[in-house]
Amino acid sequence: NPVVGVLALQGDVREHLIALAVADATAREVRRPEELAEVDGLVIPGGESTTISKLASLFGLLEPLRERIAAGMPVYGTCAGMILLADKILDPRSGQETLGGIDMIVRRNAFGRQNESFETTVDVTGVEGGPVEGVFIRAPWVESVGAQVEVLAEHGDHIVAVRQDNALATSFHPELTGDHRMHAMFVEMVRAAA
Ligand code: GLN
Repeated sequence: NPVVGVLALQGDVREHLIALAVADATAREVRRPEELAEVDGLVIPGGESTTISKLASLFGLLEPLRERIAAGMPVYGTCAGMILLADKILDPRSGQETLGGIDMIVRRNAFGRQNESFETTVDVTGVEGGPVEGVFIRAPWVESVGAQVEVLAEHGDHIVAVRQDNALATSFHPELTGDHRMHAMFVEMVRAAA
């Protein structure tokens, strides 16, 4: 099985470890550069993107993460993880850095106060067997994408899932639903890259 790490600085790490194991990956927590060096792919969980970026900087992980992503390591970001994979954040908080990897601009907390958290079904290109249950928690959406980015899903008029080469990102949290088809899709990407 491919070894897939979960960036374990803050956020819903445990749920991703479980989902990855169900999707036939060997799942591991990644907190240090040495641990990053040992994984075939990486999930960046939901949580708080500014906190994750500050901790990544503190743990000496920002540059190693940027380098591995640029070198083609498969990576999957959910929610805060999507924000971290964006080349640009529309409304960054001060001190907030991104790792980049996907040529897109994201808007944080995009769905607005009345709609902070909600669930809805989402049709995702490449996921078979019907729509996935999308859990959105103060979720970002994608404002715009570059020509290399494939839009995999939209909710209303807004892009909520994208892929560019080895980088996958969703506004929503499949790790919270028990439906692990998004994780299976990502593990397939890791296998294909290995
Ligand atoms: N709103 C959070 C952020 O800006 C993301 C929320 C989430 O990951 N559920 O980082």
